[in-house]
Amino acid sequence: MRTRKTLLLYSAVVLLLLPVILSVSCRLITRNTDSDKETAPMFRRAEYFVTNEFGEMHHILVNDGPLGVYVRYPQWGGSTDVYIERWAYDTFEAAVADFEDALAEDPDAAGTLNIQFDSQLVRAQFASIIKRGYFTHTHLAHPRTIAETFNIDIAADRLLDNADMLDFGQLDFILQLLGEKIAETHPDAEPFLVDLDASWLSYLSLSRDGLVILLARGAFLPDDMGSVKITLPYDALGSAFLLWDVSEELPNPMEPPVPPTLDGTPESTPVQPQAVDTSRPMVALTFDDGPSRYTDKILDLLEQHGGRATFMVLGNLIDGRRDALTRMVEMGSEVIGHSWDHRNLTKLSKTEIRAEITDTSAAISAVTGITWPMFRPPYGSYNDAVKAVAAELGYAIIYWSVDTLDWKHRDPDWVYKAVMNDVEDGSIVLLHDIHGTTAEAMIRVIPRLIEEGYQLVTVSELLYHRHGGLEPGRVYYSGK
Ligand code: ZN
Repeated sequence: MRTRKTLLLYSAVVLLLLPVILSVSCRLITRNTDSDKETAPMFRRAEYFVTNEFGEMHHILVNDGPLGVYVRYPQWGGSTDVYIERWAYDTFEAAVADFEDALAEDPDAAGTLNIQFDSQLVRAQFASIIKRGYFTHTHLAHPRTIAETFNIDIAADRLLDNADMLDFGQLDFILQLLGEKIAETHPDAEPFLVDLDASWLSYLSLSRDGLVILLARGAFLPDDMGSVKITLPYDALGSAFLLWDVSEELPNPMEPPVPPTLDGTPESTPVQPQAVDTSRPMVALTFDDGPSRYTDKILDLLEQHGGRATFMVLGNLIDGRRDALTRMVEMGSEVIGHSWDHRNLTKLSKTEIRAEITDTSAAISAVTGITWPMFRPPYGSYNDAVKAVAAELGYAIIYWSVDTLDWKHRDPDWVYKAVMNDVEDGSIVLLHDIHGTTAEAMIRVIPRLIEEGYQLVTVSELLYHRHGGLEPGRVYYSGK
């Protein structure tokens, strides 16, 4: 009797201490000092720098099959949306058609279409969108570069033509200015400037500092220079720039559009996350491809019901949603890299794979102060090179055991059933917080899992309790 009491007491103490034990063990995880935080390099990958201050992000995502597709495009609610969406789908469909030809010749063909965008608000009245990406498959000698720009007159709700922005009657002057700017910033490019003509001015985009000329990788300058962005300052363009009087003061940019809110949020009092009870079932919900405008909704639900989750974020989205990351960490959730820009890691060199992982970790750490030694490869695609780099960096690879296909079926009922039908103790559930339908599904999924007795834990917690921690280079599918 006495032994039993002692044992009970001992268990209670261990349970009480669990959060402490856990928080220590989860710093398998290294926490940076404040000085590291200030000097941590942010977003070194200039070619894929992403500013998303205009428009809500929409996605075309194909996560299964031999052609992995990740296309991001903005929509803001104006009548110009249709052109941008059409461009995204046309580009997607052209890639699919091209890839089908490759597949017809070689059933083992594999490919990637990856398109990102930058968007910027300029002078309250204008917005510019730069689309950049590539398409590649096993039968293309080089990846195909994809570039496009859109400039929107917000007040007039219409797309601008290049001739709305530049006076092509002053072409010689504009080209001379462009040549000078290229030579200034890219001295190696000088021999190629003899070819300068109007076609170099195809991709124009407005920015706060000047008119940006995008020279797609390999189109005018050597491939190894990458995509080149040249800014022609408005005052240097003078009367060759047509949209506004360049001597005017620059007004403040317009506030970004307010994101929509989801209906049907249950009202309840937030409860504190609970400690993990290893005798009870546990599940790790994981959300890929964010953070997005829907992430906060999922965090609200986790907070209300006392759960935690793991967010597999993209490096180039972090800067735009730092608050979401801070909140995740404060709630006991965790933030793991899902690459910088959703490239298929198996198509990259080891150096590139390393950069995709470490740049994303650095960006996460710069915001949260924490580096989680785990990542999830885009499309769940990995090979020996990816595993070798993971091992060398000390990272584990996190896969999943329940695939909800929420990216394909944009239906909360589908997502709810997909989770509830397949979930079991130790599951790692794959979801995407870039879809409103997934966030809506969580309104039912999160309380239901808890009702069924599951503890909603992070991947670190699950693997710590079920596998005793993480082994670098190893791929984890579940807590079983
Ligand atoms: Zn993904």
